[in-house]
Amino acid sequence: MRAGKEAHWDFLLSLMDDPQALLDVMDRSGVWRVGLVNYPSPDVMGFGDTTNTFAATYAQANPERLLPYGGVHARFTKDPAGDVDRLVDLGIRLLKIHPPHQGFPANAYTDGLDALGTIYRRCEERGLPVMVHTGTSIFPGARSKYGNPMEMDDIAIDFPDLALVMAHGGRPLYMEEAFFILRRHRAVRLDVSGIPPTKLLEYFPRLAEIADRVLWGTDWPSPGVKDLRQNIDQFLALPLSDAHRKAILETNALALFPPRHA
Ligand SMILES: [Zn+2]
Repeated sequence: MRAGKEAHWDFLLSLMDDPQALLDVMDRSGVWRVGLVNYPSPDVMGFGDTTNTFAATYAQANPERLLPYGGVHARFTKDPAGDVDRLVDLGIRLLKIHPPHQGFPANAYTDGLDALGTIYRRCEERGLPVMVHTGTSIFPGARSKYGNPMEMDDIAIDFPDLALVMAHGGRPLYMEEAFFILRRHRAVRLDVSGIPPTKLLEYFPRLAEIADRVLWGTDWPSPGVKDLRQNIDQFLALPLSDAHRKAILETNALALFPPRHA
């Protein structure tokens, strides 16, 4: 957990303890909103369902600017539909599935993991967006073979009204599969977090074709992502139109997460 973050560890702990410290970072970076990515992964990451209450409680400091994400672990839950309902009750705005850290492919409900299908179905019914991690992870114990975005093909077909977000665009191995899924399924959005902005158009040369479904993100403070503002500035330097920049940085996310007290 500390690897690559040793120099900033105390600072990161201070952010975890105090949402105002994070809001200050956001103010300095010109960032209005962040998604707080959390999901249970007791056997690999070492945290259970309390990660959901942590995110929800933390976000209460400013519910418009801090969007709590959470999860239900398909291999451990005893009540998948009820657990999704409890996330909604907590105020969680998105459910993250992390195949490499949770130990199953994202379409494992087609092969016997019934709880996963129940989770997707309930999210579809409740209007809770689902983000699927795609691409590799080098966290100890992570299984990167589950990072292939092709598994999302089944989800998009079987749950047509589910708002699906593909995190990280399959980087660094599966960008062709990722782009195929994004073109094939209009309900799937691309979250560019974790992709170095300077490489975004190398990874997705036809990004402009799906610009109405691309969501900005950084994956900060993961190792290698130093600064929220630096990523934004690098993105703004890419040869994209102003309309596409605005869609990716602002309006696409506003459509997925409309302000609740506008
Ligand atoms: Zn992820």
